[in-house]
Amino acid sequence: MPDLSNHFDPELAPSREALFKSLRRRSIASERALQAMREVPREAFVDDDLRHLAYEDNALPTSFGQTISQPTIVAMMTTALDLQPDNAVLEIGTGSGYQAAVISRLANRCVTIELHEGLAERARAVLEHLGIDNVTVLTGDGSVGVPECAPYDRILVTAAAPSAPDVLLSQLRQAPGSRLVAPIGDQEYQALTTIDWTESGWKVQREGSVRFVPLRGEAGWSNTDWRMAE
Ligand code: SAH
Repeated sequence: MPDLSNHFDPELAPSREALFKSLRRRSIASERALQAMREVPREAFVDDDLRHLAYEDNALPTSFGQTISQPTIVAMMTTALDLQPDNAVLEIGTGSGYQAAVISRLANRCVTIELHEGLAERARAVLEHLGIDNVTVLTGDGSVGVPECAPYDRILVTAAAPSAPDVLLSQLRQAPGSRLVAPIGDQEYQALTTIDWTESGWKVQREGSVRFVPLRGEAGWSNTDWRMAE
């Protein structure tokens, strides 16, 4: 696992400390998830003009009207995934690549797919620059998963999905412990949802309300006007 400590901007150290103190105090995340986040320089994933805001607990804009998720949300998602060192993970919605970088610290490998070529290219470049070599960034419609790399132990959807389509669930390893995490709901608000494989069928749990940009593509929202944003 690469040591990323020389990529931290010393000027951001105070805001970084404050962020992790607050995340820890609010007990919304596992210690392991927070440790993995601490090891990843979030400033490397945000646009240069927003670098000073890298450790504010906010979502930040990326190209194509998309966002890098709020640290609180990344902490909650990473915790919900309950990653194990041997896990193969699929992330749908690479965006900046930050969430994938956090996953890379806790799992064996991560395939992540992004609809917008420009975002995928950028994420790929940042991950390579940091020396993170167990993440593969693909370009395309991930709403139907990436069957050629299946099965996965975990699937994470980081865009608001109308449902958990069978096509995604079918790419999870059919074994205890396999889990899909996704914000499922309408285009305004979603429930952070975990779906576990069990011997007797899928077990669905819904947690807090979250807000994500919409999942587009075949199994996403039908008004696929995302092409117009390019
Ligand atoms: N995980 C990201 C944040 C994701 S925001 C991070 O850590 O920064 C949601 C992303 O999902 C956006 O970049 C959007 O372009 C992408 N997206 C939306 N629909 C998609 C689809 N069908 N397939 C792949 N990516 C999609």
